[in-house]
Amino acid sequence: MNVEPLWRNRGRATVYYRKQPRPEGRNFMMKREHETFMQAALVEARAALATGEFPVGVVLVHAGEIVGQGRRANSQAETRNELDHAEICALRQLAQTRPELNPAALTVYSTLEPCLMCYTTLLLSGVRRIVWAYEDVMGGGTNLDLSRLNPLYREMRVELVPKVLRADSLALFQRFFQNSDYWQDSLLSRYTLSQDPGGTP
Ligand SMILES: [Zn+2]
Repeated sequence: MNVEPLWRNRGRATVYYRKQPRPEGRNFMMKREHETFMQAALVEARAALATGEFPVGVVLVHAGEIVGQGRRANSQAETRNELDHAEICALRQLAQTRPELNPAALTVYSTLEPCLMCYTTLLLSGVRRIVWAYEDVMGGGTNLDLSRLNPLYREMRVELVPKVLRADSLALFQRFFQNSDYWQDSLLSRYTLSQDPGGTP
């Protein structure tokens, strides 16, 4: 059977499979929906890159509507820190503007696989569905084994969807690492610059 892993339930380390999207039907519609919202996250990432920041953008989606967005800030210069990641910025914005929304009904679209800080902050915030474009082979945190943690985390069931518009996000990171010293010569930088721009990993 022609299948691909689209999400994994980390809590019990179970991998679920579903059929490849067909040109019609629910899977195809979901793929198109993921790509539409990832395009919006890429707009945020390009805005970050335009100001010399690490090019990560995020949108938060609820019932088919974008209800929050964020982009990486303070990755450079005197104000440099590892707190103002795009996901954290988006969650802060949502807490101020739409605190009534049920986080379990949110889908997070990020142009980069969330790091350990952002992944666990999203989970603690109640988010259970995360879609990303480009894998973070150095600092991605989504392979955290929740089943080995304390009960609060062990019972979480999380849907993860990788590599949506991966090539578009990869292009931004390749431009960034050609022109910046942030994480220069790191595993992520070397991996990114070695990738075929139009290819798959
Ligand atoms: Zn992060």
